[in-house]
Amino acid sequence: MSRFNISTAALAAVLIAWALMGQALVPNWVPIAALVVHVALAALGVAFLEMQWFGPALCRCRSIAKEVAITFDDGPTPAGTPAILDALEQARVHATFFCVGSRAAASPELVGRIARAGHLLANHAYSHHPLTNFFSDARLFREFEDTSRVLEQACGERPSFLRPPIGLSNPGVFRAAARAGLRVVGWSARAMDTPSGRPERIVARLCRRLRPGAILMLHDGKLPPGAMATTLRILLDRLRELGYQPVRLDALLSREKQGKTMRHPA
Ligand SMILES: [Zn+2]
Repeated sequence: MSRFNISTAALAAVLIAWALMGQALVPNWVPIAALVVHVALAALGVAFLEMQWFGPALCRCRSIAKEVAITFDDGPTPAGTPAILDALEQARVHATFFCVGSRAAASPELVGRIARAGHLLANHAYSHHPLTNFFSDARLFREFEDTSRVLEQACGERPSFLRPPIGLSNPGVFRAAARAGLRVVGWSARAMDTPSGRPERIVARLCRRLRPGAILMLHDGKLPPGAMATTLRILLDRLRELGYQPVRLDALLSREKQGKTMRHPA
C-alpha cells in the first residue's frame, strides 16, 4: 500500500467519524484540516519522487562503496550525445541514458552508439509531453511501452528503468510503469544544467549532495556541447579526486543488493 493510499484511508476515517459522531465529538475544522493536509501532501508527492508518495521510487542506492550513477535525461540528441559519449569514453566510465522514445526513434544510430559504448539505456517516455502527468493509465502505458520497444529495436535489450518526464508522478505513472515492467527512478542530486549554466557551478551543485550510492541527474542537449564536455571533464576529475567511481545504474543497484546480503551498515 502506497503512502498516498494510507493518507486517503486516514482522510476517509476522519470523514466517517465526523459524519457518524457529529460536530460535538468531531468539530468541523477536523475534516477540513485533514483534507488540506491530504491535498498538500499529494501535491508535494507529485513533484518530489523522493517522498515515495505514490509508490517506491529509486532515488539513491544504499551502496557501501564510493560509487555513484551519472544519468542523462532527454536524449539522444544529435548535437549533445556525441560530446557526452566522447567525454565518458576519455574517462573510461559508464553512465545511464534516460531516452525520450521519439528522439530515440529519430536517431537509432545514436542509441546504438550509446549501447555499444557499454552504457545503460533507460526509458524517459515517448513524447516527453509537459502534461504527461495528466495522461490516462492507457496513454501512459503506451508512452512507456513504445519507448521500450524503440530502445529494444535499436540495441536488442529492453530497458528496466523509467524516469517520468520532469520527475512528476502520480498513482497512474506507477501503475503504467509496473505494467510495462519498469522500475521508477528519480535522483538524489540534480545539476540544474540550464543553457546558461556555468560548468563549475553545475559540478559544485552536484557535489554538494554526493554520497555513496548517489544518483546524479544531468540533461543531454540542454548545455551547448562544448560546455557539456567541460562540465563532464570537471565532474569526472572531481569524482576521481574524492575517490568516487561512476557506474551504471544497474551496477549500483546490484551493489546495494550485495550489501544487503553481506549485512553491511546502510
Ligand atoms: Zn526530461
